[in-house]
Amino acid sequence: MKEKIALLRCDEYDVDVIEKKIRYGFELLGGEEYVRKIIPAGSKVLLKPNLLSVEEINSPVVTNHVFFEAVLRVIKDYAADITFGDSPGFGSASKAAEKCGLMAEAKKYGVPFNDFTEKLTLELKDSILVKSWDVAKIAYESDVLITLPKLKTHGMMYFTGAVKNQFGCVPGTQKALWHTRMNNTENFSKMLLDLNKLVGTSFAIMDGITAMEGNGPKSGTPRQMNSIIMGESITAVDGVALALIGYEDPREIPQYKVAYDYNWGKVLIEDIEVLGDSIENLQVKDFVKIRKTKEVFGNLESMKFIKNLIVPYPKLVHSKCISCKRCAEVCPEKPRVITMTEKAGKLVPIFDKNECIRCFCCQELCPVGALEIGETFLGKLLMK
Ligand code: SF4
Ligand code: SF4
Repeated sequence: MKEKIALLRCDEYDVDVIEKKIRYGFELLGGEEYVRKIIPAGSKVLLKPNLLSVEEINSPVVTNHVFFEAVLRVIKDYAADITFGDSPGFGSASKAAEKCGLMAEAKKYGVPFNDFTEKLTLELKDSILVKSWDVAKIAYESDVLITLPKLKTHGMMYFTGAVKNQFGCVPGTQKALWHTRMNNTENFSKMLLDLNKLVGTSFAIMDGITAMEGNGPKSGTPRQMNSIIMGESITAVDGVALALIGYEDPREIPQYKVAYDYNWGKVLIEDIEVLGDSIENLQVKDFVKIRKTKEVFGNLESMKFIKNLIVPYPKLVHSKCISCKRCAEVCPEKPRVITMTEKAGKLVPIFDKNECIRCFCCQELCPVGALEIGETFLGKLLMK
């Protein structure tokens, strides 16, 4: 049976318009009965927006506050016990929630914030790969986890949407450890799917009104996609998003290749029934995607010389660097990879490419976009 996903055109961050669209999306998916199945009466609901870092209001890096308010208005009709939370890759979770406006919206509706610092140590027996976990207690204990991802490109994983958004359920600095433990995208993808199984992600409502293309997930360019995507299957929600940004086959991206191979969830458009607006009407054909060289050549960790000739790497834009050292702090392979060094009058990161595992945490969290995904000459040539 095909997976039902609602795709709704929405051109602006207007709370009344978005609220109507989300209600219409639920109607298309099956109405009251359907919503009650997702959110049974008396449920404890956790809303999980994307709060990657401390960002200004209306930043395309994080789930938009107006979008969040519209979700709150709808979900409030079905649940009295709602919390929202996340744990950013760097910086304070509550500051991140405050600065981008989510905290203020939540306060209006009496919804508390949880910074995911309280954790549980758990086992996941029937995992694809990862058996033992530390996760945010509330993410595991909530009856219903509704993820509110932002549609964006991602340095390491190419794309971040409904599947990747739950990486925030790993408390604080433990995220860096996962990059070291899962040092290739296939294993990282397996870990993400296992994590979603562990926390039981119930439903996704994706903010794809203003998306991010290019050097995402933090330093890319905002791109109007005018889309809200909703559904129970997080892989199918992402599958629709990928079709909108021009991927012919979602399996080009490791998370969805693994999901397909393990029959974890629907990813192919032919296995999805798109309700509401059509992909053709909302597709942005020239969406700037992120590199994909690494997967073509597999995991070359053991062949460092070849790896450095082919695989994309974190590339410094010297003029943009403000010498903040954040890249060196967030690098999971510290202190082996990044050394802050005086060059042309300022302190900048110098990378040991042999030791770098290409997790792109540095590119993800550089506050000023001074790190990009560098493509090698040979890598580009071989891709052609
Ligand atoms: S590259 Fe970015 S994160 Fe690293 S020191 Fe420069 S500005 Fe800071
Ligand atoms: S230098 Fe950047 S890409 Fe390389 S291991 Fe460190 S954080 Fe990851």
